[in-house]
Amino acid sequence: MTERAYFDWNATAPLRPEARAAMMEAFGLPGNPSSIHAEGRAARRTIEVARGKVAALVGADPAAVTFTSGGTEANALALSPHWSTTPYRRLLVSAVEHPSVLAGGRFAPADIEQVPVTADGVVDLAALAARLRGLADQLPLVSVMLANNESGVIQPVSAVAQLVHEAGGLLHVDAVQAVGRVSCDIKALGADLLTLSAHKIGGPKGVGALVRRTTDLHPQEPLMRGGGQERGLRAGTENVAAIAGFGAVAAAIHAGWPEEATRMRAARDRLESEIRAVSPQAVIFGENAERLPNTTLFTIPGLKAETAIIALDLDGVALSSGAACSSGKVQPSHVLTAMGVAPDLARGALRVSLGATTTESDIQTFVQAWKKLSESLLKRRTSIAA
Ligand code: PLP
Repeated sequence: MTERAYFDWNATAPLRPEARAAMMEAFGLPGNPSSIHAEGRAARRTIEVARGKVAALVGADPAAVTFTSGGTEANALALSPHWSTTPYRRLLVSAVEHPSVLAGGRFAPADIEQVPVTADGVVDLAALAARLRGLADQLPLVSVMLANNESGVIQPVSAVAQLVHEAGGLLHVDAVQAVGRVSCDIKALGADLLTLSAHKIGGPKGVGALVRRTTDLHPQEPLMRGGGQERGLRAGTENVAAIAGFGAVAAAIHAGWPEEATRMRAARDRLESEIRAVSPQAVIFGENAERLPNTTLFTIPGLKAETAIIALDLDGVALSSGAACSSGKVQPSHVLTAMGVAPDLARGALRVSLGATTTESDIQTFVQAWKKLSESLLKRRTSIAA
């Protein structure tokens, strides 16, 4: 295979060496972490060390970290009406949430409402405040992501927390794309529940966590019942190696903060200025809002995302579209639709997402491939017009 430039870190990040090493070590542990013999205790220790590292990454109490199979499961565990003896009757989610939040967990579809976002992709605080006032005595659970996976737009989570808590509600924050890229302390954010996923930060796929502000918050209805693992919150023998990898990557990200984020921002800003130099007509979605340091969602009028992705792939560049593909038909992304972007423009959106190890040579590979693609588009248009 020719030299590849990987720009799809928001889909999944390459495994970091720290995670690989911790997993290799954990694969050598024969015991079940619930067993009381030495082998079992060694596996248990591995999990608890990892729990401490994940907790430290987001300023939480280790006892408030519940390991899950990933961000999707953590979101499903969080979105329950039953976090106290008085049920949360309404679920309010921003219109740009990940599908695993939009699905609403264990709320009945009739009890789920979407809160609009502005044209920049930021949750409309006035609309949220008005909706919370209108709920009267119905306690709300509100779910607003810290950063969007497609646009990278960062949400004003602290302001949301204030509104939600004034209304007596509970705030869940999906921080899957934010952690390691922006500051993400559960208490500073004012979040009650926080979702994390290891594979977005260089850990293994298939492990994540739901973090609670305090252990006093205890779901009355866990998703998985059975052996009582994870303090009764998530039954099933723990994936020791994946959890070890998650812990190792959490510690590495914590140690590299904020220098890695600064490096990502410099690389992303250079990439955006190169896109603008090649294509002055480029539209960068959410560019007036605060965004993740590693993400650019952009298009040029007339571009077809699926064709562009294939052409770029052939030239060694891996990236995604901001659109969803279902039954072979590319639909404009719900994120861009919520931002009021016209369907034709939205269908051409390309997401470039990079990471801590993205190099200048990766950026140059992208720029050369993008130049070639834009020139061929231009040629095609000129020949059609002639
Ligand atoms: N939340 C957000 C914002 C995501 O981007 C993703 C993954 O794409 C998820 C949740 C789901 O995480 P996982 O892949 O670990 O289930």
